[in-house]
Amino acid sequence: MSETPDTYVRERATEGRKDLRYPEAPEPLAVPVYDNHCHLEIADGDVGLSLTEQLDRAEAVGIAGVVQASGDIESSRWAVDAAESDPRVLAAVAIHPNDAPAYADAGRLDEALAVIDGLAARPRTRAIGETGLDYFRTEEPGRAAQHASFEAHIALAKKHGIAMQIHDRDAHDDVLETLGRVGAPERTVFHCFSGDEAMARVCADAGYYLSFAGNVTFKNAQNLRDALAVTPRERILVETDAPFLTPVPLRGRPNAPYLIPITLRFLAAELGVDVDELAAQIAANTLEVYGSFA
Ligand SMILES: [Zn+2]
Ligand SMILES: [Zn+2]
Repeated sequence: MSETPDTYVRERATEGRKDLRYPEAPEPLAVPVYDNHCHLEIADGDVGLSLTEQLDRAEAVGIAGVVQASGDIESSRWAVDAAESDPRVLAAVAIHPNDAPAYADAGRLDEALAVIDGLAARPRTRAIGETGLDYFRTEEPGRAAQHASFEAHIALAKKHGIAMQIHDRDAHDDVLETLGRVGAPERTVFHCFSGDEAMARVCADAGYYLSFAGNVTFKNAQNLRDALAVTPRERILVETDAPFLTPVPLRGRPNAPYLIPITLRFLAAELGVDVDELAAQIAANTLEVYGSFA
């Protein structure tokens, strides 16, 4: 066991926040689920919550654990420390597609990938993530580095036999093309799925997992609800991407894993299925992808 990382590695101005107070906890879930993608190393809220406070609040409403995602060397180390200090955390480690160009420009991408390789070997690291392509934030000429980094991360997930969490922003075709060309890891997750119904069908056929975040509740996100409707139940995951993407009706407030019940209940209502039944299915899917937390 390592020491609980109670400091934030990334202090970030909370974008789009109208009210910095953490919202009231929702009604607890009867059947526990997991938050399969969050960033608890980033500070949020008027009074920041420690890792333990985040996990305790989550557990109190039926969130049994979280997968802590990463984007650079520092946050990847933080994720592994968190996972090794608390049984409610598993780690995902990676260089984020928007960070890859800076590492490459500094001539440090190979060195960074070697660090990720080492962290991926740790027993509580169960995914490479987040990796992928982001054409919204990264323009040419940074995309060559982004592509090279994505392919290197795919190779690492395969080498270590762990899952992969994909970040895909405005790059659907090229992400799918890359996975098809080099071969996807056995368990590939589209974190914060952002495609439409047609893409969801392609992903389902390929056996990829679709992880839905709080933005599925946004008014303008009908594409996500259409995608959800055609996703096989055994391929659905749920996440917060906290501190980002706070679900309706709490937009403008901090996001945290303890708010997962809001998104889960929304998914169940959209699908017209029982909340407990969907929770049991999604929890089983999560363990299938990442393995046991205990
Ligand atoms: Zn992402
Ligand atoms: Zn993320």
